Amino acid sequence: MLNFEQAATRGLAPDGGLYVPANWPTFGTNELRALVGKSYRETALEVLLRFSGDSIPADELGQIIDDAYKHFDHPDIAPLREIRPDVHMLELFHGPTLSFKDYALQFLGRVMDWSLKKNAQHLTVVGATSGDTGSAAISAVAGRDTIDLYMLHPFQRVSEMQRRQMTTNQNSNIFNYAIDGTFDDCQAIVKTIFNDHEVQRRHSLGAVNSINWGRISAQVVYYFYAALQLGAPDQSVRFAVPTGNFGNVFAAWTAARMGLPIADIIVCSNANDILTRFFETGEMKKHGVRQTVTPSMDIEVSSNFERFLFELFERDGTEVESLIQSLNQTGSFSVSNSKLLEAQSHFSACRVNDAETCQSIARHFEQTGDIIDPHSAVALSAVERLPDDSNVPTVVVATAHPAKFPETIEHTLGAQVPTPKQLREIIELPERYRCLSSDPDELKTLMLAA
Ligand SMILES: *Cc1c(COP(=O)(O)O)cnc(C)c1O
Repeated sequence: MLNFEQAATRGLAPDGGLYVPANWPTFGTNELRALVGKSYRETALEVLLRFSGDSIPADELGQIIDDAYKHFDHPDIAPLREIRPDVHMLELFHGPTLSFKDYALQFLGRVMDWSLKKNAQHLTVVGATSGDTGSAAISAVAGRDTIDLYMLHPFQRVSEMQRRQMTTNQNSNIFNYAIDGTFDDCQAIVKTIFNDHEVQRRHSLGAVNSINWGRISAQVVYYFYAALQLGAPDQSVRFAVPTGNFGNVFAAWTAARMGLPIADIIVCSNANDILTRFFETGEMKKHGVRQTVTPSMDIEVSSNFERFLFELFERDGTEVESLIQSLNQTGSFSVSNSKLLEAQSHFSACRVNDAETCQSIARHFEQTGDIIDPHSAVALSAVERLPDDSNVPTVVVATAHPAKFPETIEHTLGAQVPTPKQLREIIELPERYRCLSSDPDELKTLMLAA
């Protein structure tokens, strides 16, 4: 068994499985009450200490947290705003790269650096991105001499803003590659590299994609922070989460498992609705990925869903492995009716198509004058659509700043989003990246020569 530090630094288990805590830590009602009124960083320390145990001394964990959120551009770090009676928006786009990925990666990058320094080690991180993970990971590790980062993105399939956020970084430990293929091709290369013995002999490899437990743990924090402001532990709260890899919703599930009173977690999908179909029918069935106005949710195989299956099947790893194998080999698997009912008791699900997403952006702009990003609009649209007679406060999780998706906003509103300073800087800077084919040998040759 690994401790928190080791699981966060490696990211990926050697057998291809995902790390989860051996036991779920919990907060009793009085312990929750003691968290009311605490700042984001104080909340983060209390929550993350429950996961890190004694693998990171409390004072050093506190310093890592303080440093990780120092450069966020809002004093609340994750501000909660009431947008209409009993509906609140949790803004998770105040980090350096303007998506919620910063909340996890700024923390994780520092935990890795702390651990590697302490053990006099060096790590080579290889990752694939469909847009936001790449820039958030680069921002978190750029300039650190403990880590080299190889980031692969699909050539001409990320937005110009997203590409520039990655490729204008000038640090010598950052290597950007544009792959002639899709996001899936990028991920296939990463998999091949991780399993290659020659690369393993030359590099000590680590992963920062959302299967890294360190990322999920840091995301649990903002669910506590938001619910405690809305009356928890005496009041339960409902969250609507735009979903791709199931990481952010799994963090919400974790918060509930730890004792936070969460009435419902709404899994919001775009046209890639494999998760919504699962929660409706109990069958997970691949259809093929479609491109939408919410590219960070254009995913079919949600890797973190495996963590929920593990819990749903009472931690029976063999059972979960056979379901995943069936998905890989036949394109589908099903669970029994009783397992479906159990899953539905934790999550609701909703699909939102591109037209509905854009309508939601337009309606919100008319009503409030605020511009929201398309991913956040998927969650808002789901909340508008789902019946709610529960009278619990609802939180729409806003995962990105609209300026990251100027084309969709302009097309929908006929108005331009003001460019925040985080993006203004990169428009001028020169880009640095290399194009590679989808043959993993090309990257392998480069990594062996490095
Ligand atoms: C990554 C991302 C998502 C999807 O989050 P998951 O944790 O993968 O479900 C949603 N919105 C934005 C803006 C993202 O960058």
